[in-house]
Order: sequence, then structure tokens, then C-alpha cells
Amino acid sequence: MKIICIGRNYGLHAKELGNEIPDKPVIFCKPDTALLKNNDDFYLPSFSKDVHYEAEIVVKIDKAGKSILPQFASRYYSQITLGIDFTARDVQNELKTKGLPWELAKAFDYSAVIGNFIPLKQPIQDIHFHLLKNEVTVQNGHTADMLFNVDQIISFVSEYFTLKTGDLIFTGTPAGVGPVSIGDKLKGYIEKEEIFDFLIK
Ligand code: ZN
Repeated sequence: MKIICIGRNYGLHAKELGNEIPDKPVIFCKPDTALLKNNDDFYLPSFSKDVHYEAEIVVKIDKAGKSILPQFASRYYSQITLGIDFTARDVQNELKTKGLPWELAKAFDYSAVIGNFIPLKQPIQDIHFHLLKNEVTVQNGHTADMLFNVDQIISFVSEYFTLKTGDLIFTGTPAGVGPVSIGDKLKGYIEKEEIFDFLIK
């Protein structure tokens, strides 16, 4: 199982971090050891003083495929969830400055949180989601605002990586990312449904 993530997929978020709007999807991967689920606590890692939440719609791949055309991509998924792409922002900024890959900032243990999967009941590009930190809404997203839609992402990614059943795609975060500290509680929703609820330790 692999976890493929899209960076800078919402224009306002790309800008809040001072990045250009990309003309191709920005891709990075996390290993399966990055997964955190079942509302388990997230422990802040020792190597960062600035871990950020990034709430993202996560698509689960249902069957194997390679070089999938965008018009057929919707046959490859039927379930989604909300997840957190935890990012050690201080580490990432240092790596970005040096032009180095982001894995140390993005792919560490338990950096890929997933909530409960729910069946996709509405068009994937018309889904509202939001994240609460300590009961205050900090991120509000609408999948219509993605720069590259899910089917385009699947098509692009599957030219490089064969997709397999159970693979997960983190589709990028809207604006509003920020730090977490010990004792914070993160709660995520898709539409009105609670998808995860866990603590930072
Ligand atoms: Zn992200």
C-alpha cells in the first residue's frame, strides 16, 4: 500500500506559503508506516518545533490501474475520507531552501492521518469539508476549488506509479494550515458527518 500526496492543489493555500501556482500536480509519497487511524493520538515528533495540520480529502483506490485516462478515473474509487497531512514546516522550509526532497518533513511516522471511509454519494468535485482545532473551525474546503481535480490527479499519477487496490491519495489542503501543540484536539468533517476526532500529545 502506498500513500500519494498532492501539494499546492488549492490556489489560496499555495499563496499562503508563498508558492507559485503549479502548472503540473506537485507529487510526493509517504510510506505505509506514516498511517495513523482509529482516532489514535498523534505524538509530536522530537525533530520539529512547528508541526502543521493540513486537512485533505483522501481517495481510496479500489482496483489496480496504470496510465488511466481522466474519463475512466472515476471507476477506480468509490470511498473517501478526510485526513491530515502532518507537515514539519520548519524541516520542510529548510529542505525547500536547499532544494532537497520533502520526505523528512512529510513522510515521518504517523504523519498521514485518515478518518473513517464513507461511500461517495455526491460528485467528488462538490464536497465540502472542514477542520476544527479545539472546537474552532480553522480550515474550510470545497473540492470544486482544487487546481487539479481527482480524475486528473489519478490520470497524472498513474502514468508514473501503477495504482493498486488500497492505495490512498491525499488530494491537497485548502488555506488555513497552522501549528498543533500538545493537548490540541482535531476534529474533521465531510459535509455534516464527523470523520475523525483525535488528540495531539
Ligand atoms: Zn498536504
